Amino acid sequence: MQADIIVIGAGVAGLSAAYTLAEHAHVIVLEREAFAGYHSSGRSAALLVPSLGSEVVQTITAAGAASLHEPPIGFDRPVLNHRGALWVANKHQTQDLKNLMSSTVGMAPCSPDQAVARVPILRRDWLHSAAYEDEVYDIDVHVLIEGFRRGIQARGGRFLAGHTVQAANRQSGLWRIETPQAIVSAPIVVNAAGAWADPVGQLFGAQHIGFTPMRRTAATVEAPDGLEIEDWPFIINPAEDFYVKPDAGRLLISPADETHTPPCDAQPEELDIAIGIHEAQQALDIEVRHVQASWAGLRTFAPDREFVIGFDTLAEGYFWLAGQGGVGVQTCFGAAAYASGLILNGPSSGISAIDALRDRITPARFAPAETRIES
Ligand SMILES: Cc1cc2nc3c(=O)[nH]c(=O)nc-3n(C[C@H](O)[C@H](O)[C@H](O)COP(=O)(O)OP(=O)(O)OC[C@H]3O[C@@H](n4cnc5c(N)ncnc54)[C@H](O)[C@@H]3O)c2cc1C
Repeated sequence: MQADIIVIGAGVAGLSAAYTLAEHAHVIVLEREAFAGYHSSGRSAALLVPSLGSEVVQTITAAGAASLHEPPIGFDRPVLNHRGALWVANKHQTQDLKNLMSSTVGMAPCSPDQAVARVPILRRDWLHSAAYEDEVYDIDVHVLIEGFRRGIQARGGRFLAGHTVQAANRQSGLWRIETPQAIVSAPIVVNAAGAWADPVGQLFGAQHIGFTPMRRTAATVEAPDGLEIEDWPFIINPAEDFYVKPDAGRLLISPADETHTPPCDAQPEELDIAIGIHEAQQALDIEVRHVQASWAGLRTFAPDREFVIGFDTLAEGYFWLAGQGGVGVQTCFGAAAYASGLILNGPSSGISAIDALRDRITPARFAPAETRIES
């Protein structure tokens, strides 16, 4: 099989890039698992919080926001559902909340009474100050993944599940990539392998970035008796000790943990679930009779915690799309547009706001100067 571009990984990063590229090129997506979104992308808290992260993250989020709000034709349902976010602080965290408010557009102060009116189980003896951010949305990740997957096929691309990339070599300007079932070749390969980005990069002789996968845990518990929770906002404190949000009639609780973990099928640890529930119970009157479901996923960070998007400095025709950390879902349209712009039209992607931050995104920032080829 031959294509113009091979994308490795069918999480939101690989699928969104393949979908965007497939409008202009013949694309094949190779995914190890039996279905798309099995790892981090299917395990997220599924939120769009435009104020989150560095300037790079906010700019990439903004570049793709219109497509999340109004998905392209072929996405069969809306992707976003309004949620809002309530930032809550105890007396030790009030200064942190003030600092956050002063640096965040769209976050308005909210009195403790107003906060309790929104979320009646907030503990008044804990709550000292609060702020409300309106432009926060739930993301329907299933609609997103299915929309990308169908769109790739409608644009003539191929999605090959159950294809683990095991080996690669470059001959006559083509990458020849081996999976147990097939040999696939293309002049350009995009590494969107999430937590496996570095080991996959090794197969291509690409530079070592030093990604760190970090486990994050979530659990759902029953909603408090007699309360209608569906319209409650996402609840988080500035220290990010925990967060809580309504999730299909239950409450989703996360300890917002970050545990360094080798790339794997991440599983939740009971201790992390217990810590999340304990932290949430400091701020909220939640009685947990039992945990209904729990899961964990990996958020993968480059050493400086910024995205890594761009051609490699060692391996020809090899492109990185990795290091999305805790914001890979909300940034997918923006990151895909930037990546596609560089691949198809480089050296500028055509998205000037992101191009202006290129030095903070390019893989070249991790390459020793003496080993570089032109990126
Ligand atoms: C608990 C939790 C909450 C989160 N909340 C949010 C949130 O609210 N909002 C947000 O925007 N983000 C959130 N995130 C982060 C988000 O989930 C990730 O940034 C995003 O899913 C990363 O997407 P990806 O496509 O890079 O990785 P993945 O979804 O992990 O996809 C990588 C794919 O590559 C495949 N692969 C790896 N190696 C190979 C190989 N050799 N051959 C073939 N295929 C291979 C894997 O099987 C996998 O399917 C959260 C994450 C977690 C864990």
